[in-house]
Amino acid sequence: MTAPTRVLYMEERKGQEPDPCYLREFDAKVVERGPDYVALDQTAFYAEGGGQPDDHGVLRWAGGEAKVLRVTKEKGVVKHQVDRMPPGDDVHGVIDWDRRYKHMRMHTSQHVMSGLVYRIWGARTAGNQVHADFSRVDFQPANFTPEDLKRIEDECNAVADAAMEVRIFEEDRVAVANRVEDRALLDLIPQSIRRLRIIEVGKADYCPCGGTHLKNTREIGRVHILEKRSKGKETDRISYELLPP
Ligand SMILES: [Zn+2]
Repeated sequence: MTAPTRVLYMEERKGQEPDPCYLREFDAKVVERGPDYVALDQTAFYAEGGGQPDDHGVLRWAGGEAKVLRVTKEKGVVKHQVDRMPPGDDVHGVIDWDRRYKHMRMHTSQHVMSGLVYRIWGARTAGNQVHADFSRVDFQPANFTPEDLKRIEDECNAVADAAMEVRIFEEDRVAVANRVEDRALLDLIPQSIRRLRIIEVGKADYCPCGGTHLKNTREIGRVHILEKRSKGKETDRISYELLPP
């Protein structure tokens, strides 16, 4: 059985350069070959999940390259679906940075929105899906008025303007549970995991998360809410896009 993949963007954020979430290229060894995929000993590619699409890019070797078409994770092993099999075990991964960075901006802005909606209205995030050009977040219980939506947009943009640092660190599960209350569903995380990876966005959000995050909220740009739609059961879905700063 293949050992779990070392996921490079999950490394602790300690001010190193490049920051783990900003790693665009890396060297790796092929440790498993499937009919149309390879698993590597380490990767910086994001596997689809948690409301964020997977990363695309290429795997290069001396004299050739393969497109990475889809990235999934099964039992800790990250599988890179490729259009060609690398002939040897040494590869150099290059992430499609334009796509990934858009996802990072969207995902970090979603933390900001989810954190402030929880703080102001007590509504938790029941679901979310980010894309490169727009995202949606489902809040519950919620029934936002147009004034509420304006306030959400303004508060998100105030956080972006405040240029808040985004910290990533590990914390003991019990301490996290006491602090997050209903902001995050800790029950979804296996009980065997006692240390959680925390994302702290200044004073705007504090939440366990395994995703990719900006270093500073100023990189978000402007949050522009497109629409709100009721999804029933006191659930409101907010769709939004990001504009340049
Ligand atoms: Zn996150």
